[in-house]
Amino acid sequence: MAADTPFSDSTTTTGQLKRLVQQFVDEREWGKYHNSKDVALAINVEAGELLEVFEWVREHELLALEQDAEKRRHIGEEMADIIILCLNLANVLGFDVAETVGLKLEKNRRKYPADQVRGNYRKYTELRAQGKAPDDSSSAHSA
Ligand SMILES: [Mg+2]
Repeated sequence: MAADTPFSDSTTTTGQLKRLVQQFVDEREWGKYHNSKDVALAINVEAGELLEVFEWVREHELLALEQDAEKRRHIGEEMADIIILCLNLANVLGFDVAETVGLKLEKNRRKYPADQVRGNYRKYTELRAQGKAPDDSSSAHSA
C-alpha cells in the first residue's frame, strides 16, 4: 500500500515513532492526563473500536471486508490508534519497545516450543495439561 507519507517500516525506527508520539503529546500539553492506568485503559478502548469493524461479520465475509478500501482504511486507523497508545505507554513508563518486544517474543518461544506446538492453536495452559508445553509456573498466569 503506497501512501503519501515519509514513514515506512523499512526506514522508520520505533525510537523515531516514540519521539513523534511524545512530540504530539507535548505540543498539546496532554502529558498531565497520560498516566499509565489511563493510557492502558485507552488502549483497551481503541482495541474495542478495532473489534467494532469486525462485529457480526461472518467468517465467509472476512475476505470481502479485508479487500474493501474503506474498511481497510478504518482497520488501519484503529490499529494505528492502538500502536500510538502503546508507544505512548512505553514513553510514560520508560520502556524500550524493541527490547521489550524482543524479550517477550523470546519468552513466548520458550513457552510455546515450535517443535511441540506446531499447528496447534491451544492455550499454553491446555498444552501444559497435555504435556505439550514446558511447565513454567512463574508465567502460567500471563499471556
Ligand atoms: Mg480509534
